[in-house]
Formats: sequence, structure tokens, C-alpha cells
Amino acid sequence: MKKDTKIINAGRHSKWTQGVVNPSVTRASTVVFDSVKEMKHATANKANQVMFYGRRGTTTSFAFSDAMTELEGGAGCAIYPSGTAAITNAILSFIKSGDHLLMVDTAYEPTRAFCDTMLVNLGVETTYYDPLIGAGIEELIRPNTRVIFLESPGSLTMEVQDVPAIAEVAHQHDCIVMLDNTWGAGINFQPFDYGIDVSIQAATKYIVGHSDVMLGTATATEKCWPQLRENSYLMGQCTSPDDLYLALRGIRTLGVRMKQHQQSALKVADWLSRREEVETILHPAFASNPGHEFWQRDFTGANGLFSFVLNKGNQAALTALLDGMEHFKMGYSWGGFESLILGVSSVAAMRTATKWPYQYPLVRLHVGLEDVDDLIEDLEKGFERFNQVLES
Ligand SMILES: *Cc1c(COP(=O)(O)O)cnc(C)c1O
Repeated sequence: MKKDTKIINAGRHSKWTQGVVNPSVTRASTVVFDSVKEMKHATANKANQVMFYGRRGTTTSFAFSDAMTELEGGAGCAIYPSGTAAITNAILSFIKSGDHLLMVDTAYEPTRAFCDTMLVNLGVETTYYDPLIGAGIEELIRPNTRVIFLESPGSLTMEVQDVPAIAEVAHQHDCIVMLDNTWGAGINFQPFDYGIDVSIQAATKYIVGHSDVMLGTATATEKCWPQLRENSYLMGQCTSPDDLYLALRGIRTLGVRMKQHQQSALKVADWLSRREEVETILHPAFASNPGHEFWQRDFTGANGLFSFVLNKGNQAALTALLDGMEHFKMGYSWGGFESLILGVSSVAAMRTATKWPYQYPLVRLHVGLEDVDDLIEDLEKGFERFNQVLES
């Protein structure tokens, strides 16, 4: 099945849809049984998509898990109430006191914060590594290294990692390879073809696609799935069927949304690359992006999220640019239908294993589904305000 056809069909099995187009919203804590035999059957099969108790899932969550597994691959998908919960539960499912974790230096900030606080308290040591380290990661692997965590492209700065090179070395040392695959969104990067063991997404972003639900997923290989599933269950992870229904609805338009996000973002990035205020474009599809060659080799597309670095400016000029935006509103998220902008004046403070080479602020854009010419006009006016402050 081709990708766009898969997106339409994923998870829509008749046992979940009961013959209508969409899976039903099954709200449940209690599942009731008429006979001891039925109850025993449900109990014996509670890990295998048989309704047993609400926390183990209902037909809605089974449909969503199936959909994500069909999109990303792997043997199964655990669901969490946020992307952050997916990251922390995936790590906690495989790590124990005394273990060592390798975390990419460009990880999502709350991922770092989790390593630097809770994992420290649990007696797990984290070493941050350069996203472009590739097979060189072998030098950082210790006898107690258990998990190697990747995020590609990196948060804010978009470095694309050599996933297969890292995974190969990791597996030689019996490490579990986890990837924050939120940017790939389950359609632009197939994690299990490149040696990933656990692929995590903030489904909050492109899967939901409408900025109205918090949701996380972790899909895993046959080998890792039982441990991920059972440990996430032990930690009590479950999600509202209404939220899952909205996520399933989001999936159906993922293909067309992504094509438009990608097309518009490339046009905006191309326009920006010709602005005299711009130092560099950090978009995986641009040759200027660190690890661009790995994006070209491993990904089948891009989306609406990228960054650029300014070659001049100060906080006042950046504020003037950001404050007057009509379409690019400021927000910490991305992946919805709407455009967003984020100004970051201190990337260097967020990195410990690598040196940030730029002096001036970074701006991250999420290019939404508005008409792209309106978006470019919005940015053009932003640069006018920016330059006015610098010239005054
Ligand atoms: C947003 C985001 C997360 C966290 O997702 P939440 O649902 O907001 O908890 C994790 N990783 C990346 C790359 C993200 O952008």
C-alpha cells in the first residue's frame, strides 16, 4: 500500500469501526462480563487488544495504536497523555539505577530537563553527545550504557543525525536506540528501517494537527514492545478516547497537510535565504543544514517546521519583529494548521556537548496552511520593523 492510501486506512479495522467509517468513541473504566469464562478470557488476553479494564484500552485506543503501528512500523504502539510522557515513560521502561544514557545535545528541552533532574535522582547518569557524531558514538559507550536517545532533526537547530550509523554501533553494544520522531511524523521517516528500537512522537504536533489535543506515542520493535507495553501500563499510562478520536481524525489528512506544509515552508525558506538579514537557513532540505545529506538519504519529505539565524540584531529589534505579526503568532508548539513563530536569543545556553557557532538570534517558524504569499508579506513587514529599530 502506498503512503497516502495507508494514511486513509490505518487502524480502520471492522472490529474497531463496527461497520461505519470511523472507529467509535468507547468511553470506559469498567468492562463488564456475563460469565466467569468471558472474564477469564479477557484477563488472559489483556495485553492483546481484548477489552479488560479501561486503563488497558478500549476499541478507540486499539484503533489508534493500530493506526500508528501501521504508519510507523514496529510491533505495537503505547499511548501517553503527552509527547513528554511518551519520552519519559519510554526511557523509564528500559533504564534502571546505575545505568548510563547517551542523549543527543539537541534534544527537546523538557527531555534534557528530565535527564538532569529525575534521572539523576534515580541514579542514572546522562552524557550529551554531538548530533553529528555518527559512528563516533562508540567512544562514548560504557559497559553500563543502556539507552541511546536520538532526536532528528534536533529541536530548534534542526541537525539531522546519521541514524543507521549510530544504531549499528549501539546494537553491537546491546544498547536500546530510541528516537524522538516527531518531525518525521510517521510519514517522512520510517524509524524501523534504520535500526531504531523505540520511536516516539509528540502526536500533539502533526498527528493531531489541529492544536487541540495533547498526545504521545511510542512504537517499538517486536523485541522491545512487550517491555514497553507492560512498563507503561505499570506506570498507569492511558488516554481519553475523545482525544484519540481527534487524533485518528487528524491522521486522515496527514498526507495532504504535510504536502502543503512542506511546499509553503520551502517557499518561505527560499525567500528568507535571499534576505540580507539572514545568516543561514536551518531546514533539513537545504544544503546549509547540518546533516542535510542524511535527510536526503533517509527521509521522504519535509514539513512546515524550520529555523533561520539572523546576521544582526538585538533583543529590541527581535521583539519588534515578533510583536507585530499578523499570521505568525508566538507559541511553543507546532504541527497545527496555523503558522507560529519563536524567537530564541540564546541557543548557546541550551547546549553542553557542542558549541553553537552563531552570535545573533535564531527564529523558528512553523509554516501553516494559510496562503503562503500572506505569510511572506507578514515576514516582510516583520523585517521592516526589525530594521527600523536597528536604524533608529
Ligand atoms: C512538543 C515536542 C515534544 C513534547 O510533546 P508534548 O505533547 O508537548 O509533551 C517532544 N518532542 C518534540 C520534538 C516536540 O516538539
